[in-house]
Amino acid sequence: MEKMLLKNIENPASADINEYKKSGGYRAVPKAAGYKPQEIIEMVKKAGLKGRGGAGFPVAMKWSFACADTKFPKYLLCNADEGEPGTFKDRPILEKNPHLLIEGMVISGYAIGAEFGYIYLRGEYPGAYHILNRAIAQAYENNFLGDDILGKGIKFHLVVHRGAGAYICGEETALIESLEGATGQPRIKPPFPVNAGFFAKPTVVNNVETLSNIPIIIEIGAEEYSKIGSPDCPGPKLYCVSGHVEKPGVYELPMGTTLRAIIYEHCGGIKGGKSLKAVIPGGITTPVFPADKIDCPMDFVNMPRHGSMLGSGAVIVMDETVCLVKVCHRALKFLEHESCGKCTPCREGTGWLRSILERIENGKGAEGDIELMLSVSENMMGKTFCPLGDGAASVVRNFIKHFRNEFEEHIKNSKCKMKN
Ligand code: SF4
Repeated sequence: MEKMLLKNIENPASADINEYKKSGGYRAVPKAAGYKPQEIIEMVKKAGLKGRGGAGFPVAMKWSFACADTKFPKYLLCNADEGEPGTFKDRPILEKNPHLLIEGMVISGYAIGAEFGYIYLRGEYPGAYHILNRAIAQAYENNFLGDDILGKGIKFHLVVHRGAGAYICGEETALIESLEGATGQPRIKPPFPVNAGFFAKPTVVNNVETLSNIPIIIEIGAEEYSKIGSPDCPGPKLYCVSGHVEKPGVYELPMGTTLRAIIYEHCGGIKGGKSLKAVIPGGITTPVFPADKIDCPMDFVNMPRHGSMLGSGAVIVMDETVCLVKVCHRALKFLEHESCGKCTPCREGTGWLRSILERIENGKGAEGDIELMLSVSENMMGKTFCPLGDGAASVVRNFIKHFRNEFEEHIKNSKCKMKN
């Protein structure tokens, strides 16, 4: 498949506006201006674009909800706070193709009636911060941002805001709280941001990759776009692959490429010719897959049918030498640290799960620890304000479901048989 999201990124000057324009960039803005906002929403609907941040919510539907609200102003927020372990798919767009994102935000802002947009950027991406600001300055100089873009009567202004390193600010309502200057903790929904978001005004929050798909849809048309990838889930998809593969990195492939193809065809297989043991397919909180489940198409529809989720498309590959009790423990250590503490089941539950896993890993596990973890996690599922609590519980439940024998061996032998 021809690269669209990562087009031209091999060019060392790809982040420059002139290079972007040379490769056809910013053609979609005047084209979009020829349509009414509602026609653009219809086009995005026909294209079948689903949000690439993890939830896979239909983009046109989210936009329609915001448009139905008559309150003004409306805001467009770009979620560039990718902080989940193993997730780095948006980074090449932010650093190498920032004008694609800006172009996508201008068109999206026009479609939903937002005149102001913010890019909420992960604090640990200092390079991207400078690149984005330079790209935004260039876009203003070239009249692709401002009060009257290209003389078409479109107004859109854009600001980059750096996060302070909290994983939970990737959740849209926590992101909004943080952007407003408050502590980054999720809000209880409803109301949803499309009705009462940034400063209680209708707000659309879309991910970097999602917004970067908009100029592509305008350029090639909804029909052509919908032919790429899975029928239920069309378009190109960025998969970021880390761990024990020969060629880790970010791959732009048709949505619905199988895990097997990603690992063995595109990433060169398991490093050093070892065997595959497990894969976390979509970021640390998505249910782990054992090696025999990798023929599943990686999209928002098929992954749940096979017992996991596409999530952010962050594939973490683990070979035969990996201790999965250790991986599970590290995941919970991260989630306990990143729990914002607002609700008790998550605040206390992540701590208890981490602590039980820690003693098992240290050879001090007790009989009944597995059942205790299952009980703690069951008391978290569905009882927390945001998906972090559910995600933490699900990590433990799925590692136990697929690799229970490893937990039992650790407890029985008071040690790990793996060397790492
Ligand atoms: Fe905070 Fe965890 Fe509750 Fe989410 S689930 S609101 S991260 S305590």
